Amino acid sequence: MIQAREPISYVGRFAPSPTGPLHFGSLVAAVASFLQARANNGRWLLRVEDIDPPREQVGATASIIEALERYGFEWDGDTIFQSTSREAHEAALATLIESKMAYPCRCSRKDLAGAPRGLLGVIYPGSCRNGCSQGEAAIRVRTNDVEIAFDDVLHGCIAQRLESESGDFVVRRRDGLIAYHLAVVVDDEIQGVTEIVRGVDLLDSTPRQIWLQQLLEFRTPNYIHIPVITNSNGDKLSKLTGALGVPLDSVENTLHEALTALLQQPPPELAAGALSDIWTWASENWQLGNLAGHRTIVKTA
Ligand code: GLU
Repeated sequence: MIQAREPISYVGRFAPSPTGPLHFGSLVAAVASFLQARANNGRWLLRVEDIDPPREQVGATASIIEALERYGFEWDGDTIFQSTSREAHEAALATLIESKMAYPCRCSRKDLAGAPRGLLGVIYPGSCRNGCSQGEAAIRVRTNDVEIAFDDVLHGCIAQRLESESGDFVVRRRDGLIAYHLAVVVDDEIQGVTEIVRGVDLLDSTPRQIWLQQLLEFRTPNYIHIPVITNSNGDKLSKLTGALGVPLDSVENTLHEALTALLQQPPPELAAGALSDIWTWASENWQLGNLAGHRTIVKTA
């Protein structure tokens, strides 16, 4: 008898790093991933990416969670802390090393100062591929020049040849911390994430993440890179550009602004409505396609 296949259910996530409070740009990313998950009757996870203590800001995790609650987000299951997947990250790293796809590298920034640069930064010239001296080392993953391509729902086909565009890249830093690219693919795999909605600033990182998925025999989720929000000077809102946390009062107004930034054209009078009415309108009228091709949206207010 042929067994009916289980429908593949949707799992989305919002994965803030606790480097500062939830600013307007991250609120917009959270709103988009949440609405996209709900539109697909999916689960929506909150994963705090707390594996980089030097970049962490004391109190940021609590303040991000408080802001998400005030804005009326509801996530499925408990909040996930990336730091609790340390063993899985190390196991993935061990798999890469055992298969000789990753190797230690002692090159310092200074050593690489003369290396060619591409769109993704320094193109690692492979200096330590065939061995390097003993001592504290980063671990790099080997790359090749086979094109890695994926279809972003909003940006179409994106392709990179990693060996010539980024070179072998770091999966464990010299300070022993697991690098973001490795941690994110391991966690998305173990949490069964099927679709990733995040800022377009990570679009160019995606081929490196897909490469790791291929090496580790993980599934590749669907990708949607939404525009980043900039200030009127064109700078992306972030801790670096001094973006403040979203207000915790008059959340209705700010949620309305987030929907406007997502080109959903919410009716103006909705801003004066109840938070739950704004969410209901947003869920019923979610049009992801309005964002097709957009890379930046300027926050006017
Ligand atoms: N933690 C990352 C950030 O806050 C996002 C990671 C991701 O969505 O893949 O920029």
